[in-house]
Amino acid sequence: MSDYDGKWAFIDNPVAGSGFAGRYLPEVRAEIKRYHPGADIFSTERPGHATELAAGLIEQGYTHIVAVGGDGTINEIVQSLIGHPEVTFGVVSAGSGNDFVHVLGFPERFAEKDWVSLFQAKSVRLDAGKCNGRYFINTLGVGFDAQVAADFHKMKIRNGKLRYWIALIKNLIGYKPKRLKLVSEEFSEDRAMFMISVGNGRSSGGGFAVLPNALADDGLLDACVFRFNNDGLIRKTKKLMEVIRGTHNQDPTVTPFRTKKLVIESSEDMPMHIDGELFVNSRFEIEIIPAAVNVIVNPGHPNYLKVV
Ligand SMILES: [Mg+2]
Repeated sequence: MSDYDGKWAFIDNPVAGSGFAGRYLPEVRAEIKRYHPGADIFSTERPGHATELAAGLIEQGYTHIVAVGGDGTINEIVQSLIGHPEVTFGVVSAGSGNDFVHVLGFPERFAEKDWVSLFQAKSVRLDAGKCNGRYFINTLGVGFDAQVAADFHKMKIRNGKLRYWIALIKNLIGYKPKRLKLVSEEFSEDRAMFMISVGNGRSSGGGFAVLPNALADDGLLDACVFRFNNDGLIRKTKKLMEVIRGTHNQDPTVTPFRTKKLVIESSEDMPMHIDGELFVNSRFEIEIIPAAVNVIVNPGHPNYLKVV
């Protein structure tokens, strides 16, 4: 319990989860008062602000930084945590996309016992990934799911979940596989592909188990090529249901592999999602950074880790 004495800060992104993280603040304050009254709470004011706040907090000697938000907020904070394994990172999910928290064994919505585990602060060193200079901690992808993310960002609908489902269905009907060149030591291919997923974590897009065997502390990136190129709408939907369940690795049009480094190229600019955030380029260089971030886990709960 000695970690209770550390200098803790919470970074809340009030717009995460269509405003849920903002409405959740009184409860967060009550839990902090109960378990660690000395902890400070900061709210983000604009996109990218969580990265700046975290960098400043590390400089001020905070020992624990806890994200209250979704995968986007987590990704922003991670940008500042790389190179600071002395700082312990915690996650309280409050976003629309909450895929990363499952790596740690925490649920998407905290019960009282989860707050206890958080403040006990048992931590594990997780790998991170780097793509064109941007860090990620869960997954990234090009192809179908990146196009879903691109359409999600473009749409003006305020409800995050509804907006996501509309983007998903639109691409399920209209998305055309694109020619991609993938190069790694373990596997290379140059052809039309539906999607490539790479990551530390197992799920992306709010519960698609794209990398069902990934471990976030094994020093390797899991990767998977999905072709699905000649499938009609019904067959494609069936295959995506398999991806939701994480049972797609037996499909002959799917190739899972593990690597430390890969390059994905296209003849034209394409969207990529990095922990659900959108980037556009024609070439993505991706590598693992082993044991990069010290993260609080929930002992005794199913997680995606080798060590606990
Ligand atoms: Mg791994």
